[in-house]
This record gives sequence, structure tokens and C-alpha cells, in this order.
Amino acid sequence: MASRIVIVGAGPAGITVAETLREHDRNVEITMLSSEPFPPYAPPAMADHFLTGREDTLFWKGRDICERLNVDYRSNVRVKSLAPQAHELSVADGSALKYDRLVIATGSGLYAPVGGHDVQGVYNFKSLSAAEQLVDGVRAGRIRSAAIVGAGFIGVELALLLQDLGVAVTMVEMEDRLMWRMLEPETADIVLENVRTRGVEVRLNTRAEAFVGDREATGVKLEAGEELHADAYIAATGVKPNIEWLEGSGVETSWGVIVDDLLRTNIPDIYAAGDVAETKDRMTGERFVHAIFPNAVAQARVVANGLLGFDVPYEGAESMNSLKHLGVEVMAVGSQSGQEELRSRQNGTLRKVFLSDGRIVGFRLVGDIRGAGVLRSLMLRGVDVRPFRDRLLDARPGAAWFGSAVPLHAG
Ligand SMILES: Cc1cc2nc3c(=O)[nH]c(=O)nc-3n(C[C@H](O)[C@H](O)[C@H](O)COP(=O)(O)OP(=O)(O)OC[C@H]3O[C@@H](n4cnc5c(N)ncnc54)[C@H](O)[C@@H]3O)c2cc1C
Repeated sequence: MASRIVIVGAGPAGITVAETLREHDRNVEITMLSSEPFPPYAPPAMADHFLTGREDTLFWKGRDICERLNVDYRSNVRVKSLAPQAHELSVADGSALKYDRLVIATGSGLYAPVGGHDVQGVYNFKSLSAAEQLVDGVRAGRIRSAAIVGAGFIGVELALLLQDLGVAVTMVEMEDRLMWRMLEPETADIVLENVRTRGVEVRLNTRAEAFVGDREATGVKLEAGEELHADAYIAATGVKPNIEWLEGSGVETSWGVIVDDLLRTNIPDIYAAGDVAETKDRMTGERFVHAIFPNAVAQARVVANGLLGFDVPYEGAESMNSLKHLGVEVMAVGSQSGQEELRSRQNGTLRKVFLSDGRIVGFRLVGDIRGAGVLRSLMLRGVDVRPFRDRLLDARPGAAWFGSAVPLHAG
């Protein structure tokens, strides 16, 4: 029976579903829709792309991936709503599209709990379309200074990029440290020092109340009353699953789309993967949206397998991030605290491993990230590390615990 699979969204999740399907099924009809005008791209490579002009990491599957996979790819197509009874999507141009099975892979967009974020002249860096508008302004000389609201992962990456492009950057953050969701205070302090050394002005404990301006943004009003002025105002206040189009469809959502362990929604024939899906955490079992690239890809494979008839449950999402453009390597994995903390700080490096009940629940590495793969593997496998805990902070490749004492194969 001919069957059409429609994938809404062409980010890392969407394209991985298509690719995995095609590896096993040459005949299934695959249609993939994207609201953006580009081939599938990798958002983590955007900053590097704007800095160096590199395209191979941005369009990491190749610009022609959809042709090679024989996927009917339709860009600039925004889906407006879903009618599961009719197996039909409505598109912004008024047309409709039928599917047999559907994959929701619409990722995440800007979450901006700050007044005036939709005023003209407030930029963000959440998609390539949005990022291009900002960088075009920089290249055209219209943007020489920028005020960024939010110093999470994307805010910090963007601040470093803009600074490298010659823009004077001020960044405000309401919390007491940078990247507070990912970094505990000591690591955050090191990042802060490096960001400041690079020339970015950072103001912590500073809450932005609103972007101000009627037809165009003219400032950022801070809670304390002061107003910041710059050529560009940027919201980097968080991300939120793109689920608005599912309203009224019957697909169950909370913060993101609710899925089971096979990443099926509550509606038959509809799956979800990537930043849009709320999945269980591999360590804690809690349901959460873990908006990182490797999770999106792993979830997409589970979805594709399910569509192919192989029900392989999702192992669960990981919490893992690394900062690429700081000039100092930083890796943050898992929790930022535990019942016990192992710590070593020397020669510009910091290593912290958090343990609970003898198991690694998280770690932070700065300046030397060797051994991260081993620590991660120990953590995910729940290995009792008490017998060799004294050696966990040893980053040297020849360190005894890398191979012998520890029952694992990862490196
Ligand atoms: C600047 C930046 C840096 C990042 N750095 C890292 C990093 O270093 N490491 C890491 O692991 N992760 C990083 N991430 C996160 C990572 O990019 C995401 O987790 C990943 O892209 C999620 O993939 P996705 O396919 O679920 O969603 P997305 O990449 O968001 O793709 C979703 C696609 O769906 C389209 N879409 C949305 N709504 C509709 C609609 N209604 N109709 C049609 N199409 C629609 C969108 O246009 C988009 O192209 C970064 C993200 C950003 C923005």
C-alpha cells in the first residue's frame, strides 16, 4: 500500500527521520516541510558560519541531501494547523496536504517573557533566518553596538560572535551568573572572566523589563529604571517548543509535545522528535524538553524505526553542552551538583565531578576536556565509581582508570 510520511520541520530531527527512513525503505513517499528557505541546517554551526563563511558544517548533510534521499522537500512552507481525523495539514498559503503518517519536528523558537520582544528591530539568533537579519545589519554597518538580553548558552555564543565581528556588546542577565541552567558558580565565573576579557560588557543580577519603542525598538528598559541604548536589541531569553500550530488538533501538549517511550503522540500515526518533544531524562526519568542536537538526532532515529515497524524504545535524553567559541574548552554534562563533589583546579583547568550514592550524576570540565567520554559513559551506565573515585579527576590519557580499573569500553 502506498503510504505518505510527512515530516513537519527540516532541522536535525526532521532530516534524520528522512535519512533513517530512506536507509531502509527506498519506496516510501517522504514529504518534508520547512517554514524557512534553506536546505536542512545545523544551528550549532551558525556562529562559525557567520565568522568564517564555512558552509560544510552548517549544511552538514550537503545542500542536496533531499534530492539524494528522494525526499519531496518544500521550503518556505509554514504549517498552520493539523486535522488528525482528516489526516490533513493546513498550510499558511491556504492549501492543504494529506498524510498517512506524520512526524512533528518543528523544533523550538524564541521564548521571550520580556515585553516588546516582537517590536521591529528586536533580533534573535534562534534560526538561520533570524540570524541572517542580524548579521546582515552588522555587515552593512548599521549595527555597531548591541544589547543582548539573556546570558544563557545562545546569548553567550552570540555575544562572542558579535564581538568578533566588531560589534560592541552589552549583555544583561537577571540571574547571578552566566548560563545558570548549565553551569554551577565556579565554572560560570571562569566563563564570565573569559567573556569579559573578550570585551563583552556583562551585567549580572540585571533584569530587563521590556524592549521599548512604538514602531521600532529604541531601548531596553531595565527593572531598576535605567534604559540601555544600542544599534540592535537582541532577545536571547530562552527557547520554547514550536507547538502553536497544534492548538485544537487534539495532540497532547504541555511545554512540548507529550510522547511515549516510542515517541508516539496520543494520536495514532503521529510521532514527535527533537526540540519540540517532551521526553524522559535518561538519568532522572523526568519528562522534559532537552533542546540539544544529539537528543534531536537520537529521537529522530527512534521515530524512523517506529515508522519502519521496529519499536525500539528511546533511551532518554541527555543534558550535555560545550562552549565552542570561548577560547577555553568548557564541557557541562548532567547535574551541576550532587551529594558529593570531587574537584581539582590547576594550571588554568577545572574539573568537577558530582556524585550521588557513589554514581556520577554530572561533571564540569574547563580548559582540558580529556576523559569526558569516559565520565559520561560511567554516568550513563550508573557505574559505582567508589572503588576508583580518587582517580576520576585525572585527565591524563594514560591514567590507570581509563582502561583497566573501569569496566567499560567507551573512550
Ligand atoms: C545558536 C544555537 C547554537 C546551538 N548550539 C548547540 C550546541 O552547541 N550543541 C547542541 O547540542 N545543541 C545546540 N543547539 C541546539 C540545537 O540546534 C537544537 O537542539 C536542534 O537544532 C534541534 O533540532 P530540531 O530539528 O528539533 O529543531 P530545529 O533545529 O529548531 O528545526 C525545526 C525546523 O522546523 C521548522 N518549523 C517550525 N515550525 C514550523 C511550521 N509550523 N511549519 C513548517 N516548518 C516549521 C523551523 O523553521 C526549523 O527549520 C544550538 C541552537 C542554537 C539556536
